[in-house]
Amino acid sequence: MNQTGTMKPTEVRHVGLVCRHCGCRHFHTVYTRRRNDGIIRRKRCRHCGHAITTREKIL
Ligand SMILES: [Zn+2]
Repeated sequence: MNQTGTMKPTEVRHVGLVCRHCGCRHFHTVYTRRRNDGIIRRKRCRHCGHAITTREKIL
């Protein structure tokens, strides 16, 4: 048996968010709030602590 290629190493997903302050792409979600028209996520940069808010629509 030869099992290769199915397990990938640590994969980082980039959602397209880039910190305006330091330019890094590493964010962690502070909280998630659900609204009628979508979801609001509060995220904070891991490097400089700059907070951003993103909206996601529920389809
Ligand atoms: Zn930053």
